Amino acid sequence: MVQSTFAHLLAPLDLGFTQLKNRVVMGSMHTGLEEAKDGFAKMAEFYATRARGNVALIVTGGIAPNRAGWVAPFAARLSSKSQVNDHQLITSAVHESGGKIAMQILHAGRYGYHPLAVGPSRIRAPINKFTPWALSGKGVQKTIDDYVNCAVLAKEAGYDGVEIMGSEGYLINEFLVTHTNHRKDEWGGSFTNRMRFAEEIVKKTREAVGEKFIIIYRLSMLDLIPDGNLPEETAALAQAIEAAGATIINTGIGWHEVRIPTIAAKVPRAAFTWVTHQLRQAVNLPLMTSNRINNPYDAETVLARNDADLISMARPFLADPNFVRKTQENEIDAINTCIACNQACLDYVFQKKRATCMVNPFAAYETELVATPTKKTKKIAVVGAGPAGMACSLQAAKRGHQVTLFDQQSEIGGQFNLAKRIPGKQEFFETLRYFSHQLPKAGVNLQLNTAVDASMLLDGAFDHVVLATGITPRMLQIPGSSHPKAVTYIDVLQGKVVVGDKVAIIGAGGIGFDVAEFLSHADANHPSIEIKDFLAYWGIDPNNAVRGGVANIQPIDIPSKREIYLLQRKNEKLGARLGKTTGWIHRTELKRKKVRMFAGVEYQKIDDEGLHIVVDGKTQVLAVDHVVICAGQLPLKTLYEPLQGKVPVSLVGGAELALELDATRAIRQGTELALAL
Ligand code: FAD
Ligand code: NAP
Ligand code: SF4
Repeated sequence: MVQSTFAHLLAPLDLGFTQLKNRVVMGSMHTGLEEAKDGFAKMAEFYATRARGNVALIVTGGIAPNRAGWVAPFAARLSSKSQVNDHQLITSAVHESGGKIAMQILHAGRYGYHPLAVGPSRIRAPINKFTPWALSGKGVQKTIDDYVNCAVLAKEAGYDGVEIMGSEGYLINEFLVTHTNHRKDEWGGSFTNRMRFAEEIVKKTREAVGEKFIIIYRLSMLDLIPDGNLPEETAALAQAIEAAGATIINTGIGWHEVRIPTIAAKVPRAAFTWVTHQLRQAVNLPLMTSNRINNPYDAETVLARNDADLISMARPFLADPNFVRKTQENEIDAINTCIACNQACLDYVFQKKRATCMVNPFAAYETELVATPTKKTKKIAVVGAGPAGMACSLQAAKRGHQVTLFDQQSEIGGQFNLAKRIPGKQEFFETLRYFSHQLPKAGVNLQLNTAVDASMLLDGAFDHVVLATGITPRMLQIPGSSHPKAVTYIDVLQGKVVVGDKVAIIGAGGIGFDVAEFLSHADANHPSIEIKDFLAYWGIDPNNAVRGGVANIQPIDIPSKREIYLLQRKNEKLGARLGKTTGWIHRTELKRKKVRMFAGVEYQKIDDEGLHIVVDGKTQVLAVDHVVICAGQLPLKTLYEPLQGKVPVSLVGGAELALELDATRAIRQGTELALAL
């Protein structure tokens, strides 16, 4: 029974003056639409789609209360009545769809990437080139007024509440800790003084908006900086926030400048909800928890063990707007799960591109990428059940086409079946589970174990052929490239070779890094890291009893199973092209495992001695047992020529272009093609 499986998650929450229909909140995410042309109309549909999916409450991306609070120049701000109309587009769309929505007020403080940025003191953040101006006493008062004004305008715009962002190292958080607050006035010094800014904002906001308006306060539970707050200070702050009139406390983990992962795929699921639980004794307010909760089972467990009253999920609502509805219908396998890759959401935002989702290209493109039923049903053959072929088949079938999807392998997924074997990429199994469930449901005729040749597609059985045949690994053109020591990443990841204790990896792209990670582990099955081991590895106190949860805690290394060399020809930092928000994690982990990274390498030959290379003009021999070739990929499109001109044929994914291919592009291309067929 649905009710018993997810009884806690689907139960309403009475806030006194209003009710939330279940315990799931869509957490705040900046999409880039906030600043885009026609962005508000697009956001309205983006949020309304999630509201129709039955999420109880949506929190918008951060909106600055004034110019100094911008995250970046000309970022979204709500500080005057003239801006209210735009926001009304969002609130009416969400309300018409049966949802509730709160606007997040985000003052970036010293993280503001612009010369107007301010902070409690003039101390530059390590991740920002701009040094903030220290707010004067008057400036502090004015900033509080700006928060209040912003909340009042949000109410006028029809929002059901606001979330006051007080964590992650933004302005309010900066006032709370001595790390960034060196003030000598009533806003600095003792903790009572340092928390006054947060307290005043909530108190004055409550006074201005009245009782029947949700105020969520996002409170940093675990700063993860050595001079962060102590748990007793955090508890005192929570009590002050409760007394000041907040409705809900949402708990935040980690400052942005900290080099400890908090939401990446390497973080175990629900790794930080125990921290939220620590506030139970301190306050009576409903508590909201977050970070790496991407499925209803974990969400239910977290609530059932009383860690929190509400679950905030952000990225999972990019991946699937209908997460809650599917949970209510007990259609859990139909949920398109966020795999925590950050590739098309956070990484895109950092590249100033609109956020979307690797596994759901419709996210934030609801008004532009629209699937309509086909007017003319076609018989479509899709060759290759990798991400591009799966996405294309699913969408084409949903539109009413008759789709046959072929793959030579015995399972769907293409290269995802290699990716899922990499430690830390176990979430890729979820995407495979999603497509395994969805393809038959949409009526796709799946033909596995079928290596397709052109003759099979030229008998008139198909009106259109989609080649999603992927790639073939690039082979090396150096003496000894066929020596038994030289092996491909595919053979290694499929377990076809027993790799020796000393290994060199040629090519340090995404796959080279992944193979290094794979080979550094001892256990061939690579189970997900347990929460306690994750905390120990990153030096987090499992009791959160020290400053910031990390002071004086020594991270515990996990040694590599093998001696590994990771090599590239380019003379640049290895891994420089990996994702902005995850690349540093891969680099840090491999360095801690003492993987030796060489740039500017010239490969000479492979022989019985090992791999001969030249670095900095010096020849050396790496006496390795194996050389794993991860030297990029080439498109596999041998079927294209024999079909061209004989049947309408399209290429998608790696088959079309292998250069800089990733799954985001493969899935998006497959989807776009399906909508055009
Ligand atoms: P593929 O996934 O290569 O699928 C092609 C399919 O076509 C295969 O299943 C193949 O069997 C089938 N096929 C080929 N010829 C025929 C034929 N004649 N008849 C029948 N079937 C045929 N990307 C990311 O974005 N993020 C990551 O973190 C990431 N990690 C990765 C880790 C590893 C170890 C690897 C190997 C790849 C990773 N990738 C990652 C890359 C990603 O998997 C690819 O970009 C994506 O799979 C390309 O999709 P595709 O559909 O174009 O091709
Ligand atoms: P890649 O990222 O393009 O890296 C290829 C590597 O091979 C580079 O280090 C390149 O560096 C080297 N190389 C290229 N030509 C070579 C040659 N002729 N001889 C020797 N070395 C050569 O490709 P990939 O690692 O194969 O990954 C494929 C795709 O999967 C990538 O586009 C990536 O986006 C995606 N992927 C993503 C992730 C992720 O975590 N986001 C993980 C895995 C894969 P030099 O030219 O400097 O030697
Ligand atoms: Fe999740 Fe990756 Fe989609 Fe971002 S891009 S929402 S991390 S699946």
